[in-house]
Amino acid sequence: MADALLFHPHTYDPTHFDPETRRLLRATVDWFESRGKRRLIQDYRERAWLADFLEFAGKEGLFAIFLTPAAAAEGQPDKRWDTARIAALNEIFGFYGLDYWYAWQVTILGLGPVWQSENAAARERAAELLSQGEVFAFGLSEKAHGADIYSTDMLLEPAPDGGFLASGSKYYIGNGNAAGLVSVFGRRTDVEGPEGYVFFAADSRHPAYHLVKNVVDSSKYVSEFRLDAYPVAADDVLHTGRAAFDAALNTVNVGKFNLCTASIGICEHAMYEAVTHAHQRILYGRPVTAFPHVRRELTDA
Ligand SMILES: Cc1cc2nc3c(=O)[nH]c(=O)nc-3n(C[C@H](O)[C@H](O)[C@H](O)COP(=O)(O)OP(=O)(O)OC[C@H]3O[C@@H](n4cnc5c(N)ncnc54)[C@H](O)[C@@H]3O)c2cc1C
Repeated sequence: MADALLFHPHTYDPTHFDPETRRLLRATVDWFESRGKRRLIQDYRERAWLADFLEFAGKEGLFAIFLTPAAAAEGQPDKRWDTARIAALNEIFGFYGLDYWYAWQVTILGLGPVWQSENAAARERAAELLSQGEVFAFGLSEKAHGADIYSTDMLLEPAPDGGFLASGSKYYIGNGNAAGLVSVFGRRTDVEGPEGYVFFAADSRHPAYHLVKNVVDSSKYVSEFRLDAYPVAADDVLHTGRAAFDAALNTVNVGKFNLCTASIGICEHAMYEAVTHAHQRILYGRPVTAFPHVRRELTDA
């Protein structure tokens, strides 16, 4: 029972999933195992950006297959939004490193307002970007306002062509250095109250998108970015008014469950390290795992 219940990198084989899901989950474990613990720790200490990992994920179509809903999959049967396998991948990322998990997590958050949108062109663009191996970002938080998203200072000024020019800055935005699409929350300058909220899609490579810095000292990139008269076309608008606010909260509601299964992976790794260490340590001529009180404590854990 314990064998099947606890993640073990050498025996992991999720047979309860379809062949492609099983292959991708196993390939992810294999990528981390061949990278090796020494390199993973070195990258963590040197705060190396996750380029190699994202290249692996892009080549395998990992995010595209796991995060494209069936409705946007154009008949490709392996692409679907399936919480069971999303949970399984959270557990693996939690086991190997939260910075890897974070790049995936904020991709999920960035996709939230897109998949909930009625804007078919934006959904199509997101599916295409995912299939190209791009990551996504969720631009909700701001430095001055934090949890108080009512007070957003990302301002959208109506432009003569029917779109908007967006100006303002966002803070604590994961993948803001690399995302092919950043879902950004703001409000119109010409409409008072909740009706003025807008969620729109921005491109982190656009010249009006300015990456300021990584606000954390880490491999993950938690960005501050600024938009200066960024042109938001009608095709970039994901939600307006109350729906924009709801999309923000709904997205957080979907994303928060990933914290749970990622945490399980973290705990499993702590257990794995504890057992491995104890088993390899020889005291009084016996491995530490042979002592009854150690066995009892590991069993309790
Ligand atoms: C590592 C990291 C990555 C992040 N990545 C992203 C991201 O990718 N995209 C994104 O949009 N955001 C991201 N965030 C930001 C996150 O959304 C904010 O931290 C969150 O919105 C809270 O804002 P704050 O930290 O400024 O806290 P504050 O707003 O300063 O809140 C401080 C405290 O007051 C409490 N509080 C605030 N308002 C109220 C209220 N009205 N009633 C009762 N209590 C209240 C809060 O719960 C909190 O305990 C990230 C944060 C971190 C730390």
